[in-house]
Order: sequence, then C-alpha cells, then structure tokens
Amino acid sequence: MEDWRRLADQMVREQILARGVHDARVLQALREVPRHRFVPPALRGRAYADAPLPIGSGQTISQPYIVAYMTALLGLRGDEKVLEVGTGSGYQAAILARLAREVHTIERLPHLAEQARQRLADLGLRNVTVHVGDGSQGLPALAPFDAILVAAAAPAVPQPLLEQLTVGGKLVLPVGSRGFQRLERWLRTPKGWEREVLEPVAFVPLRGEHGWGED
Ligand code: SAM
Repeated sequence: MEDWRRLADQMVREQILARGVHDARVLQALREVPRHRFVPPALRGRAYADAPLPIGSGQTISQPYIVAYMTALLGLRGDEKVLEVGTGSGYQAAILARLAREVHTIERLPHLAEQARQRLADLGLRNVTVHVGDGSQGLPALAPFDAILVAAAAPAVPQPLLEQLTVGGKLVLPVGSRGFQRLERWLRTPKGWEREVLEPVAFVPLRGEHGWGED
C-alpha cells in the first residue's frame, strides 16, 4: 500500500468534498489516517473505495463519506471529550482522535475491541481509549461528553446518551428500522434537547439495553 496517500487524497476529493463536506480539519484527518490498516488484509485493495466493507462477525467499517459527514456534524474544534459507540475497526475513532482532546470508544465484541486497540496503538494515537461493553448505555463513569457519535442503528435515541452530553454538546446517530434509518443530530441546551433529522443511511443494528436486543 505504498500509494495510500494518493488514494486517500483521491477519496477525499471525489467522495467527500464532491458531496459537500467542507470542514478542513475533517478532510485533513481523512487524508492522514491510513484506512487500509483498519480493513482485513484480503480487502486492502478496496480500503479507499466508496463503500462500507466487512470486518468480520457481521460488522462493517463505515463508508468514508458517512464517517466524514457524521464527524463534520459534531463540529469539533480540538478541546472536546468525545464518546464513540461501536468501535468496529477503530477507523472512526482514529479520525476523532485527530480532531478532539480525548476520545473514548466502546465496542460490545471483545475481539473487535482488541484489534482496534492494537491498530490505534500502532498508529501512536494516545488520546483514545477502547472500552468493552454495552455502549447503548453510554459510559456513565466518564460522562459528560462534549460530543457523542453512535456508529450503529438505534430504534430510538438512547436516553442515557442524551443525559451524558454536556450543555452545548452534540449527539449524532442513525435512528430507524433495521434496514433504513435517518441520521439525527441532538443538541443539549440549557432547557433540554433539540433534534435535527438529516440524511437517510443504513447501519448495522445497535444491540444492548437501549438498542435492538440480541438476536
Ligand atoms: N465505527 C466503526 C468503524 O470505524 O469501523 C464502524 C462501526 S460498525 C458499523 C458498528 C459496530 O457497533 C459493530 O462493531 C458492533 O459490534 C458495534 N455495536 C453494536 N451494538 C453495540 C453496543 N450496544 N455497544 C457497543 N458496540 C456496539
């Protein structure tokens, strides 16, 4: 993967800028994180393609555009404490780690969490911690968070995640049925929460207490 920087730059121009994500810090992070290190070796040739890819156990690494779009919706400036629910490959966490002060990411499947932990350490990203558990309940011991990103589809917004936002904090997540969701962005205000309903998306299900439960 000697030419990965060229592929990452092309990915940013053709898939992300072309679709209207212009946050310069987000674009730079997507250029600098080697996405091929987060996909199974047999799929490395497609790491920069305009698609989600399987990472084992029925899970996926999200499409680059979706990673960029959801990240941009958080409007990170660099001093935030962030929670990601659904670590998966660790790619989204690596992007967040370049844009925020402190990142916590939680994954329910221990072997995915371990692989992600190793990849993030190999890249020298020291401001990200991988936790194992049910992220639909958030991470109460470490709350509050300035931003929360959920990378799996919830039937409804989990109340604990709303409660674990700082005032002024933002939560971005897919909400809907098993096959079809819309991204939602929730903003915590001094009086409560404001919701925006955004693009249609298709994510794997969020399991757990405030998700779809186990099959
Ligand atoms: N952000 C990931 C990446 O960059 O590769 C992609 C996430 S993948 C679409 C969704 C992940 O959410 C899966 O790894 C799945 O095991 C995890 N997941 C589902 N329900 C969860 C829960 N309640 N708590 C933590 N992780 C969960």
